[in-house]
Amino acid sequence: MKLARYLKQNAECYGVLEQDSAVCLHSLAKQLKKELPSHIEDFIADEAAQRAAEVFLAGATPSDLKAASAPLTEVTLLAPIAFPPKIICLGWNYFDHTAERKVPTPEEPVFFMKPHTTIVGPGDRIIKRPFVRELDYEGELAVIIGKKAKDVPVDKALDCVFGYSIMNDVSARDFQFKDKQWTRGKGFDTFAPTGPCITTRCQLLNTENLSIRTWINGELRQNGSTSDMIFSIAQIIYHLSRVMTLEPCDIISTGTPSGVAMAMKEPKWLKDGDTVRIEIEGIGTLENTVKEA
Ligand code: MG
Repeated sequence: MKLARYLKQNAECYGVLEQDSAVCLHSLAKQLKKELPSHIEDFIADEAAQRAAEVFLAGATPSDLKAASAPLTEVTLLAPIAFPPKIICLGWNYFDHTAERKVPTPEEPVFFMKPHTTIVGPGDRIIKRPFVRELDYEGELAVIIGKKAKDVPVDKALDCVFGYSIMNDVSARDFQFKDKQWTRGKGFDTFAPTGPCITTRCQLLNTENLSIRTWINGELRQNGSTSDMIFSIAQIIYHLSRVMTLEPCDIISTGTPSGVAMAMKEPKWLKDGDTVRIEIEGIGTLENTVKEA
């Protein structure tokens, strides 16, 4: 399923995205006189609830579904997870991106973290502070953790994945490279647009060759494939879980392919009014506009 968090008449819901509508899972359960968690975070951590939701969706009558649905034109999509316990990102995880920056291929994954205050949703603004001059985009496949995991072997690593989303690892390059680490350059408020949904792992079983593309104001800048990743999702989880316990709703953003502004001869940094659109096969598109403020 494609699971989204959204506002419907100012009330927060989570549910399944269909072609033109969203089915609120909590409302559907109520309609059927059953129960499901009220919040998406609890749903993601609860495998029994996920199995129950599949049964409810399959068994509901068209009128039950209609009562729990809203047209997509009447809902506002939100970041799927507003307060992830952790946002862990990878640097230098695509061969073509290390090549465009002439960086040696890392022998072990390079991790850094963003604070949760970077999270914004589809359509939200990326705020460019006036003192940031080198604002850049990074279209990335994001992994959403579903189960607590520690010291997970590579061949069991995907068992703890709930699903996949899109993240824009927005970066202020002037701050990122002024410091020896990347907390400032990657940690500004609004620097992690996420969405539009989470495609569950059972719906996206093969993530090893997904097209990942980024457009700025309609101009294609990144045109990559997850097949170019240096460390696979399973290897990333293996390495990470040796260090820190992974928890439900943690987000791991798996790095960006080539085509970022900083690799251009004359970088076209993001500026006020620019629109960033990221599309990943099997998930959807995430679009945000830059606002200088
Ligand atoms: Mg990145």
